Amino acid sequence: MEKKRIYLSSPTMHGEEQEFVKEAFDTNWVAPLGPNVNAFEQEMAQYAGISHASALSAGTAAIHLALRLLGVGQGDVVFVPSLTFSASCNPVVYENAVPVFIDSERDTWNMSPEALEKAYEKYPDAKAVILVHLYGTPAKLDEIREICDRRGTVLIEDAAESVGSFYKGKHTGTFGKLGIFSFNGNKIITTSGGGMLVSEDKELIDKSRFLATQARDPARHYQHSQIGYNYRMSNIVAGIGRGQLLHLEEHKKRKKEIYAQYKEAFADIPGISMNPLNTDGDANCWLSCMTIAEGCSVTPDMVMDALEKENIECRPIWKPMHLQPVFGDCDFITVQEQGSVAEDIFNRGFCLPSDIKNTAEDMERIIRIVRSFFLS
Ligand SMILES: *Cc1c(COP(=O)(O)O)cnc(C)c1O
Repeated sequence: MEKKRIYLSSPTMHGEEQEFVKEAFDTNWVAPLGPNVNAFEQEMAQYAGISHASALSAGTAAIHLALRLLGVGQGDVVFVPSLTFSASCNPVVYENAVPVFIDSERDTWNMSPEALEKAYEKYPDAKAVILVHLYGTPAKLDEIREICDRRGTVLIEDAAESVGSFYKGKHTGTFGKLGIFSFNGNKIITTSGGGMLVSEDKELIDKSRFLATQARDPARHYQHSQIGYNYRMSNIVAGIGRGQLLHLEEHKKRKKEIYAQYKEAFADIPGISMNPLNTDGDANCWLSCMTIAEGCSVTPDMVMDALEKENIECRPIWKPMHLQPVFGDCDFITVQEQGSVAEDIFNRGFCLPSDIKNTAEDMERIIRIVRSFFLS
């Protein structure tokens, strides 16, 4: 008999989602926009402690609109961490701007302030910085923000993976001019697919709603003086989000327990380290990751193969953007003399199953397989 499937991070629904969706059906608010969208925006903004939010079809759409709203265009340089998912930087290319990839630091795996500082020597006129909070761990926000302020560069936070993560008591995504959240299928809360753009700047968020609904000018006839998009979240999807938000704290608690359990289970194995959590932050522990010590004969592929053979889903670390064929022509800035931190984490790490529905037995199964490689 096939062993029970264990997932990396699958949706967890609770019931309230369906009630909000049913309400939308019952009142015929199925069409785009409606009360769930407004309420989801307000509830999410309140949770994150930010004044304004617009619900969108995807986190990627939110990053794209952020760049449009800040006037990033043809030939503009945008600094993005190399160690991230491609959605962080694809929208830079949609606008014919130029991503320049920045190496990671070891303390949080996020954009290195030193490498960012170095990047300005080559690109003093960079137009924007997109900061990512990888796997839910807050980046070094104080340091990065100080550099952005001093250089007069606008900061966009890609908080797609860090909904529920805080830095010095403030929610990630609320430090920059604009922040983005994702509610994609495997994120900590999901709407099946969706995203959000947040800011303290009401004008920017109002304008994002305008651009996201085909940029129709305020005239009775259909008039357009700008290029728009169809990026708004539907009222059905927002209903799922409202239900999920009620359980965000509970999801986070479970994710943190999973991380703590792995950490404890591998504490006696010198060859294994867990992904670092920012000591100034409260991470949502979206995905628990481990790295294998340098010089160890075990490789991530060996462990992932063994887990997959047992019907256990896992995933490599995001392959750095500066190593991607599609971004082959882009520059990469590191302060390492040889190689890069991003590549080293990619080579030695992988993501452990972090599904909040994992039972104690599931966790034991995973841990037993991983440990077996390191016990001689
Ligand atoms: C998921 C993700 C996105 C994109 O979000 P979507 O809602 O899937 O478009 C962007 N950046 C990072 C780092 C992500 O993990």
